[in-house]
Amino acid sequence: MGFEPPGSTPWPVCYHVRNAMPTRDEGDVASVRTAQRIASLPPYLFAEIDRKKAEKVAQGVDVISLGIGDPDTPTPEHIVDALCAASHNPANHRYPNYYGEPRFRRAAAEWMAGRFGVEVDAMSETLALIGSKEGIAHVFLAFVDPGDVTLVPGVGYPVYTSGGVLAGGETYYMPMSAENGWLADFESTPPDVLARAKMMFLSYPNNPTSAIAPVEYFDRAVAFAKEHDLLVIHDNAYSEIGFDGYRPPSFLERPGAKDVAIELFSCSKAYNMTGWRIAFAVGNPEAIKALGTVKSNIDSGAFTAVQDAAIEALTGPQDSITRLCDLYQRRRDLVMGALPAAGLSAETPKGTIYVWAKVPEGYTSAAFAADLLDKVGVIVAAGTAYGPYGEGYIRISLTTPDDRLEEAIERIKSL
Ligand SMILES: *Cc1c(COP(=O)(O)O)cnc(C)c1O
Repeated sequence: MGFEPPGSTPWPVCYHVRNAMPTRDEGDVASVRTAQRIASLPPYLFAEIDRKKAEKVAQGVDVISLGIGDPDTPTPEHIVDALCAASHNPANHRYPNYYGEPRFRRAAAEWMAGRFGVEVDAMSETLALIGSKEGIAHVFLAFVDPGDVTLVPGVGYPVYTSGGVLAGGETYYMPMSAENGWLADFESTPPDVLARAKMMFLSYPNNPTSAIAPVEYFDRAVAFAKEHDLLVIHDNAYSEIGFDGYRPPSFLERPGAKDVAIELFSCSKAYNMTGWRIAFAVGNPEAIKALGTVKSNIDSGAFTAVQDAAIEALTGPQDSITRLCDLYQRRRDLVMGALPAAGLSAETPKGTIYVWAKVPEGYTSAAFAADLLDKVGVIVAAGTAYGPYGEGYIRISLTTPDDRLEEAIERIKSL
């Protein structure tokens, strides 16, 4: 049986899929035929680590993971309370607003004004996301056609790559190195690549390198995007996680940024809400509209009660952020103090929840990470898992409870 056209409905679907259906003889074993794009996806970052970890645990090894970046401390109580109350409101039990409840979008706009002095229109320049990961993946469907190129940081959040693969786009990795402060070098992009490029991802404070960007770099990115007609997506997942008095800026603070950019903010790292799946996009209204169009055809929005809880996060007391930054800063110092004894070195991070450490001479990232697991039962992420410019580095996450982190540090020192 083939695919039947649904009568007279004016859907612009291609009915030739009927002819593409596999014909099978009676008795054939049916096979699942996945799309090419699935085969093209890079291997999932933590899949191999998980496999090795399971193997070690089965051998009875007490494995400590400093691999994944997922806050270990709970969501602040007042936010949990807000969810409890909001979940009792029957109006919240129905389908959410596709673009986010107006009250959520207003809270997001007010937060942008209060936190950064950035003015955005709540209804046309903000959009609720089911986590910024969702927004990153879907923004490709709004802007990238097959053959279009996206400029992606040479080491970065893996969804910048996989989102492009899923949309049939191409990825150009912008060079990043210690020498250029891990600032993605968009200016060296070859002209033939630029001619096909539509989007550029940037993210500072940066995962995995924990680099921060001077505002002058953002200004250059705005000028570059204008010159080459690119949409900039600034992923500001760590906007609230700064150390030693550093408060990360918004990309949209820069003059002209809203002409070329959208920015993604997430409650995940700022308020320990990774499991809640709530974030928002702000910025260029045409880009916000296009992303909203994609989303309204795919998902039906974030649970409204979760949006209400996020409003409490954004507008309620912010002292949890100070405590969180103090916690990560203390852990950062613990890790930094232990690195030399293990032959590792790193720039002291000014933000994020990671230490990006250079492995000893003669090791690759993967070999050093494998050694740490094999010899002392500590998991870290190999730098190469984040892109081609990550060789020679490992990422150590600070989201492990203090006693386990201290134990891991003792083990790393003993290596
Ligand atoms: C954690 C992280 C995200 C994902 O955030 P969610 O809002 O939980 O989806 C996005 N970008 C970067 C750089 C991250 O580190």
